[in-house]
Amino acid sequence: MKIIIVGAGIGGLATALSLEAAGYDDVIVVERARELRPLGVGINLLPHAVRELTELGLADAVAAIGTAPGRLSYFNRFGQPVWSEPRGLEAGYRWPQLSVHRGEFQLLLAEEVRRRLGADAIRLGLRATGVEHGVAGADGRVVERARFADAAGAELVLDADVVIGADGIHSALRAQAHPSEGAPPWNRLVLWRGTALAPTYLDGRTMIMAGDAEQKFVAYPLVAPGAEDGLTRVNFIAERRAPEGVDETADWNHAVDPAPIVELFADWRFDWLDVPAVIAAADEILEYPMVDRDPLASWTIGRTTLLGDAAHALYPNGSNGASQAILDARSLAFRLATSVDVDAALAAYEGDRRPATTKLNAMTRQLGPERVMQLAYERAPHGFADIHDVIPEAELQEIADGYKVAAGFHPEQLNQRSSLTPPARA
Ligand SMILES: Cc1cc2nc3c(=O)[nH]c(=O)nc-3n(C[C@H](O)[C@H](O)[C@H](O)COP(=O)(O)OP(=O)(O)OC[C@H]3O[C@@H](n4cnc5c(N)ncnc54)[C@H](O)[C@@H]3O)c2cc1C
Repeated sequence: MKIIIVGAGIGGLATALSLEAAGYDDVIVVERARELRPLGVGINLLPHAVRELTELGLADAVAAIGTAPGRLSYFNRFGQPVWSEPRGLEAGYRWPQLSVHRGEFQLLLAEEVRRRLGADAIRLGLRATGVEHGVAGADGRVVERARFADAAGAELVLDADVVIGADGIHSALRAQAHPSEGAPPWNRLVLWRGTALAPTYLDGRTMIMAGDAEQKFVAYPLVAPGAEDGLTRVNFIAERRAPEGVDETADWNHAVDPAPIVELFADWRFDWLDVPAVIAAADEILEYPMVDRDPLASWTIGRTTLLGDAAHALYPNGSNGASQAILDARSLAFRLATSVDVDAALAAYEGDRRPATTKLNAMTRQLGPERVMQLAYERAPHGFADIHDVIPEAELQEIADGYKVAAGFHPEQLNQRSSLTPPARA
């Protein structure tokens, strides 16, 4: 069976590796960019994704480029503690949580795809322009016919049994199937992402989030404690609702001057972290709109389906988009290897993943696990002596647990669920 994956992001590359592990070797990944470069900043791979990477034989390689946070702690905008929980192995998972550089992780996956599926398995510099479904192929078989354009505009036509659109939030394959959808909706939050060398805070292994729905700061170490003398390289995201009048169609994803962002956070000097100093120390700050996608009623047309951000781009609340793409990849490969035919497999994949990610979309629009910070703000906008005077412990626990169950990484659920490696390959 020939399978074409459109897009060599984390979703597309994880799909290629999952298909190879499920017994498919006629797989190519076709990518618009002419070169894969280690772009972006940090992301967290949650234990459900690390389980899948482990079962793909990548545990050591990914651990070598990452560091494992031991706690996640939420604070209000005065730095007062709202909620704190252990993470990864410390929380009883059989797999760690790993903070990695997004670009390094993508390159690691790409190298592994080439090693396992062949040097030509990733075809660069080809932009997908559309797919025709169920056409007669050269040998009379019914195929999906994918069309690509190179930088010079020359067309390449490739036939396959299955096409997977892993081409991100601005997916061409999604746009073809849903032509009236338009641009991703923006909730008027602006995100500034960067990395900085900053004095080690708390225990050196804690991911922190401070603030509320209007303004927030997130930071986590990208290196193990002690890697630098008294300093830690941290990844951060600063976030603030844009004033009316900001042009939604502006050129995002570019480097910006840190000074106005430092100013926005000028009062956020906690006794355990100096937020404006971290922002001021950034190597570079990139600006993004917080956008997602409305859930779709179906992902599959013919034998072409969607995966990762192309299928279900989510707000980053919960640090879960790439992890969900990896779950998609494993589910799709498992279903192809264990279903009676391709149509049944694609239907089963959608059944596994579309309702689950639709629910997550609704939860992330309600702030996901970060709702604890907004509740603290609504009930005590000027701060509190003890968070439990404001939010009972049980309510905080319920929000944390509810999100983990919906996202598929509650420790009991994840530790016990069966593997997505097809039984014949286990
Ligand atoms: C601020 C922020 C923080 C985040 N933090 C986390 C986190 O901590 N943990 C986490 O799991 N996730 C996080 N995410 C989300 C995560 O980055 C994405 O969900 C994930 O990278 C999506 O992967 P993908 O492969 O589906 O899409 P992409 O990474 O967008 O890859 C799509 C690929 O397709 C290619 N492409 C596009 N169009 C075409 C075309 N027409 N033809 C061929 N190729 C094409 C692109 O060049 C690209 O290489 C965060 C996101 C943001 C914005």
